[in-house]
Amino acid sequence: LFITFEGIDGAGKSTQARALAAWLERQGREVVLTREPGGSAGAEEIRRLLVEGAPDRWSGETETLLFTAARRDHLERVIAPALATGKVVISDRFADSTRVYQGAARGELRAFVDALHGLAIRREPDLTLILDMDPEVALARGLARRSGEDRFEEEGLAFQLKLRAGFLALAGADPARCRVIDAGRPTEEITADVIAALREGLQ
Ligand code: C5P
Repeated sequence: LFITFEGIDGAGKSTQARALAAWLERQGREVVLTREPGGSAGAEEIRRLLVEGAPDRWSGETETLLFTAARRDHLERVIAPALATGKVVISDRFADSTRVYQGAARGELRAFVDALHGLAIRREPDLTLILDMDPEVALARGLARRSGEDRFEEEGLAFQLKLRAGFLALAGADPARCRVIDAGRPTEEITADVIAALREGLQ
């Protein structure tokens, strides 16, 4: 079972991924909790190339190739082996992030993104939980991280609004796989919805 969390920066993906992993472990499942960009040794190295440096370090196409290379390594080394032994894999971001960030919000490279996915990845999650939140709320709550070390951080509200619209559009296009969850509520309520979505998705 392969589950992914998606959504804008600061929507609470990593918190909810951890909460779902803990719940599944209490149900007796073996869980691999992972993230992108990164998630394998090689992909974490590529992550550094992606997040460090000047905002214009890479063209949109090169950035997409790097995200795809990182994803391929993550899939080969971590995700596929875990799924093959019956573990549940939960990833904080996966291909939908590239469809939205590189494909729609930062550039208009959706055809390029899809072609690369078709060549190199060809794998979709069984269930994708899209944590939906008003970017103004995320920014006002200080949820969008400001570590000063990420070359993507200068993108402001307009960019986050594009991301939100992009994720909602993906959810609309693939309702069998994607569930949209209102992430502008207390953590425990969101987790309850996440678990309910998983139960429903498994039936
Ligand atoms: O989710 P996380 O904070 O680890 O992502 C690291 C950075 O990479 C963030 O600034 C995120 O917005 C960005 N990112 C991106 N394109 C993706 C995935 C993440 O620009 N496909």
